[in-house]
Parts: sequence; C-alpha cells; structure tokens
Amino acid sequence: MCGIAGVYKSPHAPEYAYFLIYSLQHRGQESVGISSCDGKEIYSVKKAGRVIEAIKQEDLEKLKGDMAIAHVRYSTAGNAGGVNAQPIVKETPLGKVAVVHNGNLVNFLSLRRELEAKGVKFEYSSDSELFLSLLGEDTYIPEGVNLHPEDRKILPYIFHVLRRVKGAYSVLYMIRDKLVAVRDPYGFRPLCVGRKGNTILFASESCAFEILEAEFWREIYSGEVFVVDKKGIRSYRAFKSPRKAMCVFEFVYFARPDSYIFGDWVYNVRKEMGRQLAREDDVKADVVIPVPDSGVVPALGYAEEKGIPFEYGLIRNHYVGRSFIEPTQELRNLRVLMKLSPNRAVLKGKRVVVIDDSLVRGTTSKRIITMLRRAGAKEVHLRIASPPVVGPCYYGIDTPTKEELIANRMSLEEIGTFIEADSLKYLSLEGLRKAVGNREEFCDACFSLNYPVEVEDLKLAKV
Ligand code: SF4
Repeated sequence: MCGIAGVYKSPHAPEYAYFLIYSLQHRGQESVGISSCDGKEIYSVKKAGRVIEAIKQEDLEKLKGDMAIAHVRYSTAGNAGGVNAQPIVKETPLGKVAVVHNGNLVNFLSLRRELEAKGVKFEYSSDSELFLSLLGEDTYIPEGVNLHPEDRKILPYIFHVLRRVKGAYSVLYMIRDKLVAVRDPYGFRPLCVGRKGNTILFASESCAFEILEAEFWREIYSGEVFVVDKKGIRSYRAFKSPRKAMCVFEFVYFARPDSYIFGDWVYNVRKEMGRQLAREDDVKADVVIPVPDSGVVPALGYAEEKGIPFEYGLIRNHYVGRSFIEPTQELRNLRVLMKLSPNRAVLKGKRVVVIDDSLVRGTTSKRIITMLRRAGAKEVHLRIASPPVVGPCYYGIDTPTKEELIANRMSLEEIGTFIEADSLKYLSLEGLRKAVGNREEFCDACFSLNYPVEVEDLKLAKV
C-alpha cells in the first residue's frame, strides 16, 4: 500500500511530483517523500504524515533539477512511521541512485540474509532497499533483448536486480540522467504513464494526471522496463511470467474510483460488483446506503440493479483518515466514531441495506450497525461487495494476519450475530470474477487462497 510518482523533465519537476503524490494520498498516509535530480546531485525531502501537512513551500524550494520521483507510504514490510520513508537514495557502483517502490517482495528476508552474509550493510528495514543493494552486484541481459546504446551502461544492472527479486513491485528509478519505470511480470500493482507537453509523468493511478491537466497515455505493462532520458523513450518487455496476477483488491477498495488501471475504469468495475451482489440477493428493503467512501460506488450499482432508492444514510467527516489503514486497533475503533455519523433523516423506520466494500476484522461493521439502529433503522442488512477475506496478502496490501481475519474465525452466521445485523451477505467469488470480466489475469488470493507467487520468506520464518 503505497503510491509512487515521477516526472521527467520539467523546470517544475518537484512541484509536479508534489501534486501527483498528493493525488495518491489514499494509497498511504504514514510518510511522504520527494527526491529531485539536476543531473549531478540528488536532493530529497522525507517526512512522516500526509503530503499537505508534511511538505512545505521551503521544502520544495530545496529540491533542484528537472527530474523528480515521489512516494507516499503505508508500511507492509519494515517499521511504520517516517523511518522507512521513500525515496531511498544510496551510493551504488552506478553512482547515487534514488528509488521508489510500491509492492512487497516475497523473498526479501532470504535475499537480505544472503547479502548481509556477504557484508552488505542495510540502512532501512523495508524490502525496497533491495532495489539499490542489488544494483552493481552483477549484470544480466534477458534473451532476445536488444539494448539501445544509451541503455547499455545501466539497464543490465537493473535487469540483474529484477532477475533476483520476487513478488510485487512497481518501481521508479532515478538514475543518472534517466527515469526508469518497472512493473513486475505478474503486474500486481498498477503503474501509469502520462504526458503534459514534453514532460513524461508516472503515477500509480491515472487519477493523478488530472490534477496537472495532463494526459493519461497508458499503463506500464507487466514485465515492462520503460526508460526516458534526453534521447527519448525506450521500452523493453524483458520479463515474462506464467500468468498475470493483478491485485483485484485494488478494484474492491484501494484504487480511487476515477482511476483507469488494469485495463478498466475502477468506477465501472466497482459498480458492477454492486450490481452482481444485488443479483445474488433477495432481501426486501426500503433504502440502500453506502459506507462512505469506498461503499458508495458498489451501493450505486446495487441500488440501480434492485430499483431501490440510494441515499446517504451515513455522513462522513472528511477531516479524519481512513480507519482501515491505521496501525493499531485502539485507534481504529475510535476513528470509526470520529469518521461516520448516522443521517436520521433517511434512516428512521426504514429497512436498510448497507453496502461496504469489504469485511476484514468486523469491528467497524459492528459499530456502524449499532449506530444505524440507534438512529431509528428498523432492519439493518449488511451487504459486502467482495467475498470473505480468508487469507493475508503477501503482495503489498496491509490485510491483517490470518488469525485476525473474522472470516477465518467465524461462520457467516456467527459473523452476522457478532456484528448484530439482521442479515449478512457477501458477493460470491464467482460474482467478483464476473465483475472483473472473467479475465484470468487477477490475483484474488486473499479471497480464494490461490496464491500466484510462492512466499519464500514464509518458509524462512518457519525455520
Ligand atoms: S492477496 Fe488479495 S490484496 Fe494481495 S495482491 Fe492478491 S488480491 Fe491483492
């Protein structure tokens, strides 16, 4: 759970990077960082907290140069807080290099132990540092790849890194006079490229380009290495995988609804999840309400399909962060009450269907249902626009451990009783797959336990 952005060549590169990463704030709120480069030196600012509060005008003024990369972070590996903020900048055999990473490496521990045994020192506890620590270890050119003369001094080193790391990664390297964008062969995390005049922009999601009135060009393909420098743009399809495994949870919850990722509009797919849920449901109700914000789009689909009025029965206070991505349980509970308030005008005496995007721990839903009853709802039927979450994610989304997942501890009936709903229903796995067009290109392991990439570090953890 991170957002990344990059800018190649603009006198406003640091400011552009700031606005791009600001638009990706929903992908991580623990820390933010921007690095720029003037062809000689790399300048960085990294802070804990959110973009708007953390980065000041004077910080941007310190960032020189016409290239920049930026990052917002929510920790999936390594410590939380500002300590592992990115971009990570390191002296390497190729000079000083900056990198930003969205994803999670499944062989992080084994690689790190191997490198430490060889005397390599690590400054951070996050897996992302490996993209720099492995740089210079060796070179590699994948079969069939014809390198442009401009790329011969750098790309074989990057190809070597990519040969070594396994798992989920969308990465931007700022290296000498180049920006290099990389997406893992499974395509777990999104990464998009846009244009504003002659400036090339990168962002985790296409929604970020709107803020700069820039044009969304296309997605970086899975397994693609995309280079931009003064000689132009080059693309290499260097790494192939037996299958694609784009994260379906990006569509369920994580990505912004106005983004185009994985070959589709998040809005359309999320709405279809709601429609599909409605087709699988026979409950009678007077009103459909969403848990804002991520329940809004599926609730629209559900209400349209059922022909039941859609209303705002819960009002969100926008000055609080999203509860799902707060690290401690204590804070999460408090934040639900701070964040949502019942709208008595639409609830009193009604049979209410309340739509949420996912049900992970169950504690939030319980509080919401109590809140709706207190506000006068006659019946409360909770509908979840995704299947039960039964497995943790090892590819970059912060789902809890298997034990914490409510669907692993209780039956559907027990969950319904625990959250005190009149009824509870999830979208089926088949329904979810239908909503994404039955394309066999998605990872849905947290719902199906069908993990596309073996997690080597789990074996290591058991030793
Ligand atoms: S396990 Fe779930 S959250 Fe993780 S990549 Fe797969 S679909 Fe996404």
